[in-house]
Amino acid sequence: MTDRWNRRDVLRTGVAAGLGVGAASRAPAVVTQSPSRPVVVSSGNGLEAAAKAMEIVQGGGDTLDAVIAGVNIVEHDPDDMSVGYGGLPNEDGVVQLDASVMHGPTARAGAVAAIEGVKTPSNVAQLVAYRTDHVLLVGEGANEFARVHGYGGENLLTERSREAWLRWKETHSDRDEWLPPERDGSADMAPIERDYGTINCNVVDVNGDISGVTTTSGLSFKIPGRVGDSPILGAGLYVDNEVGACGSTGRGEANLVECASFLVVELMRGGAHPRDAAIQALERIAGKTTASRLLNSEGRPNFNLRFYCLNKRGDYAGASMYGQIGNGVARFAVNDGGDSRLEDCVALFDAMPA
Ligand code: ASP
Repeated sequence: MTDRWNRRDVLRTGVAAGLGVGAASRAPAVVTQSPSRPVVVSSGNGLEAAAKAMEIVQGGGDTLDAVIAGVNIVEHDPDDMSVGYGGLPNEDGVVQLDASVMHGPTARAGAVAAIEGVKTPSNVAQLVAYRTDHVLLVGEGANEFARVHGYGGENLLTERSREAWLRWKETHSDRDEWLPPERDGSADMAPIERDYGTINCNVVDVNGDISGVTTTSGLSFKIPGRVGDSPILGAGLYVDNEVGACGSTGRGEANLVECASFLVVELMRGGAHPRDAAIQALERIAGKTTASRLLNSEGRPNFNLRFYCLNKRGDYAGASMYGQIGNGVARFAVNDGGDSRLEDCVALFDAMPA
């Protein structure tokens, strides 16, 4: 931990929130017993996804098919403006999506980045895993691969996401020729903030088999071609069937440089509980954040990042850089049979300053 903040400032909602790498690596190896019942964890927008994934694994379905069927619900949802259909577009008004999948039992993985015209990039990522000898397809190549498999040609821009993009375009700079309409009062409104948002969903079934998926429209109004952490294995998603799974949401750029989902799984391999592993990864990212444009007045990251993780035993956690942003408490979705529920994330820091 750097001296830019004090260890006392760290919110201790889990056991030994400050576990170091050395401590984790001295801990006993993860016991590879299977959970007594399946467990699904997902980002806060994944209540329905977690329920669907649970239904499928309880019916004996494959773990990867289960989580993909779960996130498909959100990918098709026009009201979730961070994923699939209705996702916020890039700087040019074009929706470009990223997704990755990992199937623990076969160690297969697939991903697509900056793909267009497909509401469910998670399905295309699964096809990359099973119908190619590659792992990651991007841009035009990914579009074409999707097309030959019967995906593509869909308009992902809803009226709501088009309006949001247009308003961003008209208000983010007063040094261009785009002007908001004067009559509806929006000429005076504050510029629309760029936003992150994604769904990650991971499952362990009663056999101890593990899979995960992360799918997103990424950072809103991004530079065309920008790829976040979601389709990058080890960053937005990592699964090891012997250990566990971790996926992320939030500022992808911060996660990409640390490959933090891989880090979390490796810390779990060393015996760390999912919550301690995830807090440790967040500590690492916070400590490496030194650019002043990314720091608030307290010297802490001015962005959020979250991890959703579980191990082979069925222990799980959601972890967030900040426990609260504005009035919003950081929560994640869990299903271990029955209805999905939201649980509070453990957090590295309490509330993000306004
Ligand atoms: N991590 C995603 C990205 O950077 C966005 C998000 O999860 O909010 O593209």
